[in-house]
Amino acid sequence: MSRVRLLSDTLASQVAAGEVIERPASVVKELVENSIDAEARSIEIMIRRGGISLMRVTDDGIGMDRDDALLCLERHATSKIRSASDLASVATLGFRGEALPSIASVSRFRLATRERQAVAGSEVIVSGGKIETVRDGGEAPGTQIEVRSLFYNLPARRKFLRSENTETHNIEHQLYLQAIAHPEIAFSFVRDERLVFQLPATKNLRERIRDLLGSELLARLLEVEPAARGKLRVSGFIGQAGVSRASRAQQFVFVNGRAIESPVIGAALKEGYHTALMKGQFPVTFLFVGLDPAEVDVNVHPAKREVRFRDPAGVREAVVAAIRRTLESDRESWQEQFRAPASSPPGLPVFRPAPLASPLVTPSLDERQSSLSVEVENPAISTRRTAPNEQAQSEPQQFQILGVLNKLYVMMENAEGLVLVDQHAAHERILFEELRRRMEEKGAPSQRLLLPQVIELAPRDAEWIERNLATMQKMGLGVEKFGRHTFKLESLPPFLSGADPAHLLQDVIDSLKSASNSTSPLRLGEDMIAKTVCRHAVKANDYLREPEVEKLIRDLLACELPYCCPHGRPTMIQISLGELEKKFGRKV
Ligand code: ADP
Ligand code: MG
Repeated sequence: MSRVRLLSDTLASQVAAGEVIERPASVVKELVENSIDAEARSIEIMIRRGGISLMRVTDDGIGMDRDDALLCLERHATSKIRSASDLASVATLGFRGEALPSIASVSRFRLATRERQAVAGSEVIVSGGKIETVRDGGEAPGTQIEVRSLFYNLPARRKFLRSENTETHNIEHQLYLQAIAHPEIAFSFVRDERLVFQLPATKNLRERIRDLLGSELLARLLEVEPAARGKLRVSGFIGQAGVSRASRAQQFVFVNGRAIESPVIGAALKEGYHTALMKGQFPVTFLFVGLDPAEVDVNVHPAKREVRFRDPAGVREAVVAAIRRTLESDRESWQEQFRAPASSPPGLPVFRPAPLASPLVTPSLDERQSSLSVEVENPAISTRRTAPNEQAQSEPQQFQILGVLNKLYVMMENAEGLVLVDQHAAHERILFEELRRRMEEKGAPSQRLLLPQVIELAPRDAEWIERNLATMQKMGLGVEKFGRHTFKLESLPPFLSGADPAHLLQDVIDSLKSASNSTSPLRLGEDMIAKTVCRHAVKANDYLREPEVEKLIRDLLACELPYCCPHGRPTMIQISLGELEKKFGRKV
Protein backbone atom coordinates (compact mmCIF):
# COMPACT_ATOMS: atom_id res chain seq x y z
CA MET A 1 0.00 0.00 0.00
CA SER A 2 1.45 3.37 -0.96
CA ARG A 3 2.03 5.87 1.77
CA VAL A 4 3.33 8.88 -0.14
CA ARG A 5 0.70 11.56 -0.59
CA LEU A 6 0.58 15.09 -1.98
CA LEU A 7 -0.14 17.78 0.61
CA SER A 8 -3.22 19.89 0.09
CA ASP A 9 -2.47 23.43 -1.09
CA THR A 10 -3.47 24.92 2.24
CA LEU A 11 -1.29 22.53 4.19
CA ALA A 12 1.62 23.13 1.82
CA SER A 13 1.22 26.87 2.39
CA GLN A 14 1.15 26.40 6.14
CA VAL A 15 4.35 24.39 5.92
CA ALA A 16 5.93 27.12 3.82
CA ALA A 17 4.66 29.70 6.30
CA GLY A 18 6.66 27.91 8.96
CA GLU A 19 9.80 29.14 7.25
CA VAL A 20 8.78 32.52 5.90
CA ILE A 21 6.46 33.71 8.65
CA GLU A 22 8.09 33.30 12.01
CA ARG A 23 6.36 36.13 13.81
CA PRO A 24 4.29 39.27 13.22
CA ALA A 25 7.40 41.18 12.16
CA SER A 26 7.90 38.74 9.27
CA VAL A 27 4.40 39.53 8.03
CA VAL A 28 5.09 43.25 8.18
CA LYS A 29 8.38 42.71 6.38
CA GLU A 30 6.78 40.77 3.52
CA LEU A 31 3.87 43.19 3.14
CA VAL A 32 6.02 46.31 3.19
CA GLU A 33 8.46 44.76 0.73
CA ASN A 34 5.56 44.00 -1.60
CA SER A 35 4.46 47.63 -1.35
CA ILE A 36 7.98 48.81 -2.17
CA ASP A 37 8.14 46.43 -5.13
CA ALA A 38 4.76 47.85 -6.24
CA GLU A 39 6.37 51.32 -6.53
CA ALA A 40 4.56 52.78 -3.54
CA ARG A 41 5.46 56.36 -2.65
CA SER A 42 3.77 56.20 0.69
CA ILE A 43 3.22 53.24 3.03
CA GLU A 44 1.09 53.23 6.17
CA ILE A 45 1.49 50.51 8.75
CA MET A 46 -0.97 49.95 11.57
CA ILE A 47 -0.77 47.26 14.23
CA ARG A 48 -2.70 46.24 17.29
CA ARG A 49 -1.44 44.20 20.22
CA GLY A 50 2.03 43.54 18.86
CA GLY A 51 0.56 42.65 15.48
CA ILE A 52 -0.96 39.51 16.91
CA SER A 53 -4.50 40.82 16.68
CA LEU A 54 -4.04 43.06 13.61
CA MET A 55 -1.48 44.22 11.08
CA ARG A 56 -2.55 46.50 8.26
CA VAL A 57 -0.31 47.75 5.46
CA THR A 58 -1.69 50.31 3.03
CA ASP A 59 0.21 51.56 -0.01
CA ASP A 60 -0.38 53.81 -3.00
CA GLY A 61 1.42 51.50 -5.41
CA ILE A 62 0.37 50.05 -8.77
CA GLY A 63 -2.33 47.81 -7.30
CA MET A 64 -3.69 44.65 -8.93
CA ASP A 65 -6.61 43.76 -11.19
CA ARG A 66 -9.16 41.14 -10.17
CA ASP A 67 -7.31 38.20 -11.74
CA ASP A 68 -4.01 39.10 -10.10
CA ALA A 69 -5.71 39.71 -6.78
CA LEU A 70 -6.79 36.10 -6.84
CA LEU A 71 -3.71 34.65 -8.45
CA CYS A 72 -1.31 36.29 -6.00
CA LEU A 73 -2.78 34.06 -3.29
CA GLU A 74 -1.70 30.92 -5.11
CA ARG A 75 1.61 29.39 -4.18
CA HIS A 76 4.51 30.26 -6.47
CA ALA A 77 2.56 33.08 -8.09
CA THR A 78 4.78 36.09 -8.73
CA SER A 79 5.04 38.94 -11.18
CA LYS A 80 8.70 39.44 -10.40
CA ILE A 81 10.64 36.67 -12.11
CA ARG A 82 9.83 34.54 -15.12
CA SER A 83 12.82 32.36 -15.80
CA ALA A 84 15.69 30.82 -13.91
CA SER A 85 18.02 33.37 -15.47
CA ASP A 86 16.07 36.19 -13.77
CA LEU A 87 17.05 34.62 -10.49
CA ALA A 88 20.67 35.58 -11.10
CA SER A 89 19.88 39.29 -11.12
CA VAL A 90 16.86 39.85 -8.91
CA ALA A 91 16.15 43.57 -8.65
CA THR A 92 12.97 43.32 -6.56
CA LEU A 93 12.75 42.52 -2.87
CA GLY A 94 10.41 39.57 -3.48
CA PHE A 95 10.64 36.87 -6.12
CA ARG A 96 9.44 33.57 -4.64
CA GLY A 97 5.71 34.13 -4.76
CA GLU A 98 5.32 32.56 -1.34
CA ALA A 99 4.59 35.31 1.13
CA LEU A 100 0.92 36.09 0.49
CA PRO A 101 -0.34 32.48 0.34
CA SER A 102 1.73 31.68 3.43
CA ILE A 103 0.33 34.60 5.40
CA ALA A 104 -3.22 33.94 4.20
CA SER A 105 -2.99 30.31 5.28
CA VAL A 106 -2.23 31.16 8.92
CA SER A 107 -4.49 34.16 9.55
CA ARG A 108 -7.74 35.94 8.74
CA PHE A 109 -6.67 37.83 5.68
CA ARG A 110 -8.19 40.65 3.68
CA LEU A 111 -6.80 42.09 0.47
CA ALA A 112 -8.24 45.23 -1.08
CA THR A 113 -6.57 46.52 -4.20
CA ARG A 114 -7.15 48.80 -7.13
CA GLU A 115 -5.03 49.68 -10.12
CA ARG A 116 -4.30 53.34 -10.66
CA GLN A 117 -6.52 53.79 -13.72
CA ALA A 118 -9.26 51.27 -12.82
CA VAL A 119 -12.79 52.39 -12.04
CA ALA A 120 -13.28 49.83 -9.30
CA GLY A 121 -11.10 47.71 -7.09
CA SER A 122 -11.37 44.20 -5.69
CA GLU A 123 -11.67 42.83 -2.22
CA VAL A 124 -10.70 39.28 -1.34
CA ILE A 125 -11.27 37.76 2.09
CA VAL A 126 -9.46 34.58 3.07
CA SER A 127 -9.59 32.57 6.28
CA GLY A 128 -6.92 30.02 7.06
CA GLY A 129 -6.10 29.73 3.37
CA LYS A 130 -9.72 29.37 2.12
CA ILE A 131 -11.08 32.15 -0.06
CA GLU A 132 -14.38 33.23 1.46
CA THR A 133 -15.40 36.39 -0.36
CA VAL A 134 -14.46 38.08 -3.63
CA ARG A 135 -16.22 41.31 -4.50
CA ASP A 136 -15.88 44.79 -6.00
CA GLY A 137 -14.52 47.41 -3.70
CA GLY A 138 -14.36 51.17 -3.91
CA GLU A 139 -10.99 51.81 -2.29
CA ALA A 140 -8.33 54.32 -3.31
CA PRO A 141 -5.74 53.20 -5.89
CA GLY A 142 -3.12 51.01 -4.31
CA THR A 143 -3.26 47.99 -2.06
CA GLN A 144 -4.32 47.40 1.50
CA ILE A 145 -3.70 44.12 3.26
CA GLU A 146 -5.07 43.29 6.68
CA VAL A 147 -3.86 40.34 8.66
CA ARG A 148 -5.86 39.45 11.77
CA SER A 149 -5.45 36.74 14.39
CA LEU A 150 -2.09 35.47 13.23
CA PHE A 151 -1.66 31.70 13.77
CA TYR A 152 -5.27 31.43 15.01
CA ASN A 153 -5.46 28.04 13.31
CA LEU A 154 -2.02 26.87 14.47
CA PRO A 155 -2.09 26.97 18.28
CA ALA A 156 1.38 25.43 18.44
CA ARG A 157 2.88 28.35 16.52
CA ARG A 158 0.87 30.88 18.46
CA LYS A 159 2.46 29.62 21.65
CA PHE A 160 5.84 30.64 20.33
CA LEU A 161 4.88 34.28 20.07
CA ARG A 162 6.55 36.54 22.59
CA SER A 163 5.01 39.35 24.59
CA GLU A 164 3.18 42.10 22.74
CA ASN A 165 6.00 44.48 23.57
CA THR A 166 8.64 42.21 22.13
CA GLU A 167 6.65 41.61 18.96
CA THR A 168 6.04 45.33 18.60
CA HIS A 169 9.71 45.97 19.07
CA ASN A 170 10.52 43.47 16.31
CA ILE A 171 8.02 45.09 13.98
CA GLU A 172 9.41 48.50 14.70
CA HIS A 173 12.94 47.33 13.99
CA GLN A 174 11.74 45.85 10.70
CA LEU A 175 10.17 49.19 9.79
CA TYR A 176 13.36 51.03 10.67
CA LEU A 177 15.22 48.81 8.24
CA GLN A 178 12.74 49.47 5.44
CA ALA A 179 12.58 53.19 6.15
CA ILE A 180 16.35 53.55 6.13
CA ALA A 181 16.67 51.55 2.93
CA HIS A 182 14.02 53.73 1.24
CA PRO A 183 14.16 57.39 2.20
CA GLU A 184 12.27 58.21 -1.01
CA ILE A 185 9.14 56.55 0.39
CA ALA A 186 6.98 58.15 3.09
CA PHE A 187 6.23 55.84 6.03
CA SER A 188 3.84 56.12 8.91
CA PHE A 189 3.49 53.71 11.78
CA VAL A 190 0.53 53.54 14.14
CA ARG A 191 0.60 51.24 17.14
CA ASP A 192 -2.58 50.64 19.14
CA GLU A 193 -4.12 53.82 17.70
CA ARG A 194 -1.04 55.88 18.61
CA LEU A 195 1.17 57.43 15.94
CA VAL A 196 4.72 56.16 16.50
CA PHE A 197 6.35 57.90 13.56
CA GLN A 198 5.49 59.67 10.38
CA LEU A 199 8.34 60.08 7.95
CA PRO A 200 8.01 62.34 4.94
CA ALA A 201 9.58 61.16 1.70
CA THR A 202 13.03 62.66 1.25
CA LYS A 203 15.77 62.56 -1.31
CA ASN A 204 18.52 61.74 1.11
CA LEU A 205 19.48 59.27 3.75
CA ARG A 206 20.77 61.96 6.10
CA GLU A 207 17.31 63.47 6.48
CA ARG A 208 15.71 60.07 6.89
CA ILE A 209 18.11 59.18 9.70
CA ARG A 210 17.41 62.51 11.38
CA ASP A 211 13.62 62.08 11.10
CA LEU A 212 13.80 58.54 12.41
CA LEU A 213 16.53 58.72 15.07
CA GLY A 214 16.99 62.39 15.84
CA SER A 215 19.60 65.02 15.13
CA GLU A 216 21.62 64.15 18.21
CA LEU A 217 22.59 60.80 16.76
CA LEU A 218 23.04 62.29 13.32
CA ALA A 219 25.58 64.73 14.73
CA ARG A 220 27.70 61.79 15.83
CA LEU A 221 27.64 60.05 12.46
CA LEU A 222 30.14 60.30 9.65
CA GLU A 223 29.26 59.94 6.01
CA VAL A 224 31.15 56.99 4.59
CA GLU A 225 33.90 58.19 2.28
CA PRO A 226 32.75 56.99 -1.10
CA ALA A 227 34.85 54.20 -2.47
CA ALA A 228 34.40 51.82 -5.33
CA ARG A 229 36.32 48.65 -6.07
CA GLY A 230 35.23 47.51 -9.44
CA LYS A 231 31.48 47.26 -9.17
CA LEU A 232 31.52 47.15 -5.39
CA ARG A 233 30.35 50.33 -3.67
CA VAL A 234 30.23 51.09 0.03
CA SER A 235 28.27 54.11 1.24
CA GLY A 236 26.06 55.38 4.04
CA PHE A 237 26.73 56.69 7.53
CA ILE A 238 28.64 55.25 10.46
CA GLY A 239 29.16 56.30 14.06
CA GLN A 240 32.29 58.22 15.00
CA ALA A 241 34.99 56.27 16.78
CA GLY A 242 33.77 55.50 20.28
CA VAL A 243 30.07 55.82 19.39
CA SER A 244 28.72 52.40 20.22
CA ARG A 245 25.83 50.35 21.49
CA ALA A 246 25.63 47.30 23.71
CA SER A 247 23.71 45.40 21.01
CA ARG A 248 23.46 45.26 17.23
CA ALA A 249 20.16 47.15 17.35
CA GLN A 250 21.59 50.10 15.45
CA GLN A 251 23.85 48.16 13.14
CA PHE A 252 21.92 48.52 9.90
CA VAL A 253 23.46 46.81 6.90
CA PHE A 254 22.02 46.67 3.40
CA VAL A 255 23.20 44.75 0.41
CA ASN A 256 21.78 45.98 -2.87
CA GLY A 257 19.07 47.76 -0.93
CA ARG A 258 18.08 44.67 1.05
CA ALA A 259 18.44 44.64 4.83
CA ILE A 260 20.54 41.65 5.75
CA GLU A 261 22.45 40.06 8.58
CA SER A 262 25.86 39.06 7.35
CA PRO A 263 28.61 37.49 9.40
CA VAL A 264 31.04 38.59 6.68
CA ILE A 265 30.05 42.24 6.97
CA GLY A 266 29.64 42.01 10.73
CA ALA A 267 33.24 40.84 11.04
CA ALA A 268 34.37 43.53 8.62
CA LEU A 269 32.71 46.21 10.75
CA LYS A 270 34.41 44.88 13.83
CA GLU A 271 37.73 44.90 12.05
CA GLY A 272 37.17 48.39 10.64
CA TYR A 273 36.40 49.68 14.13
CA HIS A 274 39.33 47.85 15.62
CA THR A 275 40.66 49.89 18.58
CA ALA A 276 37.79 52.33 18.10
CA LEU A 277 35.21 50.38 20.07
CA MET A 278 35.09 49.11 23.59
CA LYS A 279 35.01 45.37 24.09
CA GLY A 280 31.55 43.86 23.67
CA GLN A 281 30.20 46.99 22.02
CA PHE A 282 28.77 47.31 18.52
CA PRO A 283 29.08 50.19 16.12
CA VAL A 284 26.19 52.27 14.88
CA THR A 285 26.02 51.86 11.12
CA PHE A 286 23.77 52.68 8.21
CA LEU A 287 25.91 50.86 5.73
CA PHE A 288 25.02 50.21 2.12
CA VAL A 289 26.99 47.73 0.08
CA GLY A 290 26.18 47.71 -3.60
CA LEU A 291 27.48 45.05 -5.94
CA ASP A 292 26.72 43.36 -9.21
CA PRO A 293 23.60 41.21 -8.53
CA ALA A 294 25.45 38.29 -10.09
CA GLU A 295 28.01 38.58 -7.28
CA VAL A 296 25.51 37.89 -4.54
CA ASP A 297 22.99 35.10 -4.03
CA VAL A 298 19.89 36.33 -2.19
CA ASN A 299 18.13 33.00 -2.49
CA VAL A 300 19.74 31.26 0.47
CA HIS A 301 17.51 32.14 3.42
CA PRO A 302 13.72 31.63 3.71
CA ALA A 303 13.21 35.19 4.93
CA LYS A 304 16.03 36.45 2.64
CA ARG A 305 17.75 37.78 5.72
CA GLU A 306 21.08 36.36 4.73
CA VAL A 307 22.94 36.42 1.45
CA ARG A 308 25.90 34.59 0.01
CA PHE A 309 28.74 36.54 -1.57
CA ARG A 310 30.70 35.10 -4.43
CA ASP A 311 33.80 36.90 -3.14
CA PRO A 312 33.39 37.33 0.62
CA ALA A 313 37.02 38.36 1.07
CA GLY A 314 36.59 41.17 -1.44
CA VAL A 315 33.46 42.42 0.30
CA ARG A 316 35.16 42.24 3.66
CA GLU A 317 38.17 44.19 2.47
CA ALA A 318 36.08 46.89 0.85
CA VAL A 319 34.03 47.37 4.00
CA VAL A 320 37.04 47.41 6.32
CA ALA A 321 38.80 49.95 4.11
CA ALA A 322 35.72 52.18 3.90
CA ILE A 323 35.22 52.17 7.68
CA ARG A 324 38.86 52.82 8.34
CA ARG A 325 39.08 55.67 5.89
CA THR A 326 35.90 57.24 7.21
CA LEU A 327 36.96 57.07 10.86
CA GLU A 328 40.33 58.57 10.03
CA SER A 329 38.78 61.31 7.93
CA ASP A 330 37.08 62.61 11.02
CA ARG A 331 40.43 63.66 12.40
CA GLU A 332 40.55 67.18 11.11
CA SER A 333 37.24 68.29 12.57
CA TRP A 334 38.14 66.51 15.77
CA GLN A 335 41.50 68.29 15.96
CA GLU A 336 39.68 71.54 15.43
CA GLN A 337 37.99 71.03 18.78
CA PHE A 338 41.32 71.55 20.49
CA ARG A 339 41.84 75.01 19.07
CA ALA A 340 42.00 77.78 21.63
CA PRO A 341 39.07 80.22 21.40
CA ALA A 342 39.79 83.30 19.31
CA SER A 343 39.38 85.56 22.29
CA SER A 344 41.62 84.00 24.88
CA PRO A 345 41.51 85.97 28.09
CA PRO A 346 44.78 87.70 28.91
CA GLY A 347 46.93 86.26 31.62
CA LEU A 348 46.23 82.62 30.93
CA PRO A 349 48.98 80.66 29.31
CA VAL A 350 48.46 79.95 25.64
CA PHE A 351 50.77 77.29 24.35
CA ARG A 352 52.33 77.77 21.01
CA PRO A 353 53.75 74.33 20.55
CA ALA A 354 56.89 73.62 18.63
CA PRO A 355 56.56 72.04 15.20
CA LEU A 356 55.79 68.39 15.21
CA ALA A 357 59.11 67.07 14.05
CA SER A 358 60.23 66.53 17.62
CA PRO A 359 60.35 62.97 18.88
CA LEU A 360 57.25 61.48 20.33
CA VAL A 361 58.10 61.34 23.97
CA THR A 362 59.58 64.28 25.80
CA PRO A 363 62.71 63.67 27.84
CA SER A 364 60.83 63.71 31.09
CA LEU A 365 58.19 61.34 29.84
CA ASP A 366 61.15 59.24 28.78
CA GLU A 367 62.36 59.06 32.32
CA ARG A 368 59.03 57.67 33.27
CA GLN A 369 59.14 54.92 30.71
CA SER A 370 62.82 54.67 30.10
CA SER A 371 62.60 51.24 28.54
CA LEU A 372 59.76 52.11 26.23
CA SER A 373 61.08 55.42 25.05
CA VAL A 374 64.23 53.76 23.76
CA GLU A 375 61.98 52.15 21.21
CA VAL A 376 60.05 55.12 20.36
CA GLU A 377 62.64 57.80 20.18
CA ASN A 378 63.91 56.72 16.86
CA PRO A 379 64.85 59.12 14.10
CA ALA A 380 63.07 57.03 11.51
CA ILE A 381 59.84 57.53 13.38
CA SER A 382 60.28 61.18 14.04
CA THR A 383 60.73 62.07 10.41
CA ARG A 384 57.92 59.85 9.35
CA ARG A 385 55.55 61.47 11.72
CA THR A 386 55.92 64.87 10.19
CA ALA A 387 54.37 63.79 6.91
CA PRO A 388 50.66 63.88 7.70
CA ASN A 389 51.02 67.07 9.64
CA GLU A 390 52.67 69.45 7.25
CA GLN A 391 49.70 71.73 7.38
CA ALA A 392 49.72 71.90 11.11
CA GLN A 393 53.39 72.63 11.00
CA SER A 394 53.11 75.64 8.81
CA GLU A 395 50.69 77.22 11.22
CA PRO A 396 50.82 75.48 14.58
CA GLN A 397 47.50 75.22 16.31
CA GLN A 398 47.14 77.11 19.54
CA PHE A 399 45.93 75.33 22.61
CA GLN A 400 44.71 76.80 25.78
CA ILE A 401 45.54 74.41 28.55
CA LEU A 402 43.91 75.44 31.79
CA GLY A 403 45.51 72.84 33.99
CA VAL A 404 45.31 69.20 34.99
CA LEU A 405 42.43 68.04 37.15
CA ASN A 406 43.08 65.34 39.72
CA LYS A 407 46.43 64.54 38.06
CA LEU A 408 44.46 62.83 35.30
CA TYR A 409 42.29 65.10 33.20
CA VAL A 410 43.92 67.76 31.12
CA MET A 411 41.52 70.70 31.00
CA MET A 412 41.49 72.87 27.92
CA GLU A 413 39.34 75.67 26.66
CA ASN A 414 37.95 75.85 23.15
CA ALA A 415 35.35 77.98 21.44
CA GLU A 416 32.56 75.65 22.57
CA GLY A 417 33.56 75.35 26.18
CA LEU A 418 35.60 72.90 28.17
CA VAL A 419 37.64 70.02 26.75
CA LEU A 420 38.82 67.24 29.05
CA VAL A 421 41.53 64.83 27.95
CA ASP A 422 42.27 61.64 29.85
CA GLN A 423 46.06 61.68 30.02
CA HIS A 424 46.37 57.94 30.41
CA ALA A 425 44.03 57.10 27.53
CA ALA A 426 45.73 59.68 25.36
CA HIS A 427 49.20 58.39 26.06
CA GLU A 428 48.07 54.81 25.45
CA ARG A 429 46.80 55.77 22.03
CA ILE A 430 50.03 57.59 21.17
CA LEU A 431 52.29 54.74 22.23
CA PHE A 432 50.05 52.16 20.62
CA GLU A 433 50.17 53.75 17.22
CA GLU A 434 53.87 54.39 17.49
CA LEU A 435 54.71 50.80 18.32
CA ARG A 436 52.31 49.40 15.78
CA ARG A 437 53.83 51.55 13.06
CA ARG A 438 57.27 50.32 13.98
CA MET A 439 56.12 46.77 13.94
CA GLU A 440 54.53 47.16 10.55
CA GLU A 441 57.69 48.64 9.17
CA LYS A 442 60.39 46.48 10.55
CA GLY A 443 58.97 44.34 13.26
CA ALA A 444 59.29 45.23 16.91
CA PRO A 445 62.83 45.85 18.06
CA SER A 446 64.50 43.03 19.83
CA GLN A 447 67.20 42.95 22.48
CA ARG A 448 69.34 39.90 23.03
CA LEU A 449 69.10 38.38 26.45
CA LEU A 450 72.34 37.98 28.31
CA LEU A 451 71.46 34.38 28.95
CA PRO A 452 69.12 32.72 26.45
CA GLN A 453 66.32 30.92 28.22
CA VAL A 454 65.21 27.41 27.42
CA ILE A 455 61.52 26.94 27.99
CA GLU A 456 59.53 23.74 27.88
CA LEU A 457 55.94 23.95 26.78
CA ALA A 458 52.90 21.71 26.69
CA PRO A 459 52.71 19.87 23.35
CA ARG A 460 49.76 21.91 22.07
CA ASP A 461 51.42 25.19 22.99
CA ALA A 462 54.64 24.03 21.40
CA GLU A 463 52.79 23.32 18.20
CA TRP A 464 51.16 26.72 18.29
CA ILE A 465 54.49 28.47 18.79
CA GLU A 466 55.99 26.56 15.91
CA ARG A 467 53.26 27.65 13.58
CA ASN A 468 53.58 31.24 14.69
CA LEU A 469 57.34 31.65 14.82
CA ALA A 470 57.30 34.34 12.15
CA THR A 471 54.69 36.33 14.05
CA MET A 472 56.69 36.05 17.23
CA GLN A 473 59.71 37.34 15.36
CA LYS A 474 57.74 40.35 14.19
CA MET A 475 56.73 41.01 17.74
CA GLY A 476 60.35 41.13 18.78
CA LEU A 477 60.35 37.74 20.45
CA GLY A 478 63.36 35.80 19.27
CA VAL A 479 62.23 32.19 19.71
CA GLU A 480 63.91 29.14 18.28
CA LYS A 481 62.97 25.53 18.37
CA PHE A 482 65.34 23.73 20.68
CA GLY A 483 63.91 20.29 21.29
CA ARG A 484 60.66 18.45 20.72
CA HIS A 485 58.64 20.71 23.00
CA THR A 486 61.36 23.08 24.10
CA PHE A 487 62.23 26.47 22.75
CA LYS A 488 65.09 28.84 23.22
CA LEU A 489 64.14 32.44 23.87
CA GLU A 490 67.06 34.57 22.75
CA SER A 491 65.71 38.06 22.54
CA LEU A 492 62.83 40.23 23.70
CA PRO A 493 61.49 43.65 22.82
CA PRO A 494 63.21 46.01 25.27
CA PHE A 495 59.94 47.20 26.72
CA LEU A 496 59.34 43.69 27.97
CA SER A 497 62.85 43.09 29.23
CA GLY A 498 61.81 43.22 32.85
CA ALA A 499 59.42 40.31 32.50
CA ASP A 500 60.17 36.72 33.37
CA PRO A 501 60.70 35.14 29.93
CA ALA A 502 58.94 31.85 30.68
CA HIS A 503 55.94 33.66 32.05
CA LEU A 504 55.94 36.06 29.20
CA LEU A 505 55.93 33.37 26.56
CA GLN A 506 53.06 31.61 28.26
CA ASP A 507 51.19 34.91 28.47
CA VAL A 508 51.70 35.54 24.82
CA ILE A 509 50.47 32.08 23.90
CA ASP A 510 47.41 32.32 26.13
CA SER A 511 46.31 35.75 25.12
CA LEU A 512 46.89 35.31 21.43
CA LYS A 513 45.82 31.74 20.88
CA SER A 514 42.12 32.45 20.96
CA ALA A 515 42.42 35.07 18.26
CA SER A 516 44.78 33.14 16.05
CA ASN A 517 42.45 31.65 13.49
CA SER A 518 40.70 34.60 11.97
CA THR A 519 43.10 37.42 12.69
CA SER A 520 46.12 38.60 10.80
CA PRO A 521 49.56 38.01 12.31
CA LEU A 522 49.94 41.69 12.83
CA ARG A 523 46.74 41.83 14.79
CA LEU A 524 48.19 39.29 17.19
CA GLY A 525 51.01 41.64 17.85
CA GLU A 526 48.61 44.54 18.18
CA ASP A 527 46.76 42.98 21.05
CA MET A 528 50.00 42.56 22.82
CA ILE A 529 51.00 46.11 22.08
CA ALA A 530 47.71 47.40 23.46
CA LYS A 531 48.29 45.47 26.66
CA THR A 532 51.86 46.59 26.87
CA VAL A 533 51.25 50.26 26.30
CA CYS A 534 48.57 50.21 28.93
CA ARG A 535 51.21 49.28 31.44
CA HIS A 536 53.70 51.80 30.16
CA ALA A 537 51.54 54.82 29.49
CA VAL A 538 51.41 57.64 31.99
CA LYS A 539 48.92 56.82 34.68
CA ALA A 540 46.39 58.75 36.58
CA ASN A 541 48.36 60.39 39.38
CA ASP A 542 51.47 60.78 37.23
CA TYR A 543 52.27 64.43 37.51
CA LEU A 544 52.99 65.98 34.09
CA ARG A 545 54.65 69.34 33.68
CA GLU A 546 53.26 71.91 31.30
CA PRO A 547 55.49 71.15 28.33
CA GLU A 548 54.73 67.47 28.75
CA VAL A 549 51.02 68.07 28.79
CA GLU A 550 51.30 70.15 25.68
CA LYS A 551 53.43 67.50 24.01
CA LEU A 552 50.91 64.85 24.91
CA ILE A 553 48.09 66.80 23.28
CA ARG A 554 50.17 67.46 20.17
CA ASP A 555 51.09 63.83 19.80
CA LEU A 556 47.53 62.76 20.34
CA LEU A 557 46.34 65.05 17.57
CA ALA A 558 48.85 63.43 15.23
CA CYS A 559 47.44 59.94 15.77
CA GLU A 560 45.46 58.07 13.15
CA LEU A 561 42.56 57.38 15.49
CA PRO A 562 43.11 59.94 18.24
CA TYR A 563 39.54 59.83 19.57
CA CYS A 564 39.92 56.77 21.71
CA CYS A 565 42.51 54.64 23.44
CA PRO A 566 43.34 51.22 21.94
CA HIS A 567 40.57 49.71 24.06
CA GLY A 568 38.00 52.03 22.56
CA ARG A 569 37.57 54.36 25.52
CA PRO A 570 37.37 58.03 24.57
CA THR A 571 40.49 60.15 24.98
CA MET A 572 38.59 63.41 25.08
CA ILE A 573 35.21 64.71 26.06
CA GLN A 574 33.69 68.09 25.44
CA ILE A 575 31.50 69.95 27.90
CA SER A 576 29.83 72.76 26.04
CA LEU A 577 29.12 76.21 27.38
CA GLY A 578 25.45 75.41 26.72
CA GLU A 579 25.61 72.46 29.10
CA LEU A 580 27.25 74.61 31.74
CA GLU A 581 24.61 77.29 31.30
CA LYS A 582 21.91 74.70 31.83
CA LYS A 583 23.61 73.41 34.96
CA PHE A 584 23.86 76.92 36.36
CA GLY A 585 20.24 77.62 35.56
CA ARG A 586 21.14 80.38 33.12
CA LYS A 587 19.30 78.61 30.36
CA VAL A 588 16.36 76.24 30.52
P1 ADP B 1 6.61 37.83 -4.38
O1 ADP B 1 6.72 39.14 -3.70
O2 ADP B 1 7.77 36.95 -4.08
O3 ADP B 1 6.32 37.96 -5.83
P2 ADP B 1 4.21 37.56 -2.82
O4 ADP B 1 3.44 36.38 -2.41
O5 ADP B 1 4.74 38.44 -1.78
O6 ADP B 1 5.37 37.05 -3.76
O7 ADP B 1 3.31 38.42 -3.79
C1 ADP B 1 2.78 37.80 -4.96
C2 ADP B 1 2.50 38.83 -6.01
O8 ADP B 1 1.41 39.66 -5.62
C3 ADP B 1 3.62 39.79 -6.31
O9 ADP B 1 4.53 39.26 -7.23
C4 ADP B 1 2.90 41.01 -6.84
O10 ADP B 1 2.67 40.90 -8.22
C5 ADP B 1 1.55 40.95 -6.13
N1 ADP B 1 1.50 41.87 -5.00
C6 ADP B 1 1.69 41.57 -3.71
N2 ADP B 1 1.59 42.67 -2.93
C7 ADP B 1 1.30 43.70 -3.74
C8 ADP B 1 1.07 45.11 -3.54
N3 ADP B 1 1.12 45.66 -2.32
N4 ADP B 1 0.80 45.86 -4.64
C9 ADP B 1 0.73 45.31 -5.85
N5 ADP B 1 0.97 44.01 -6.10
C10 ADP B 1 1.24 43.20 -5.07
MG1 MG C 1 6.61 39.44 -1.66
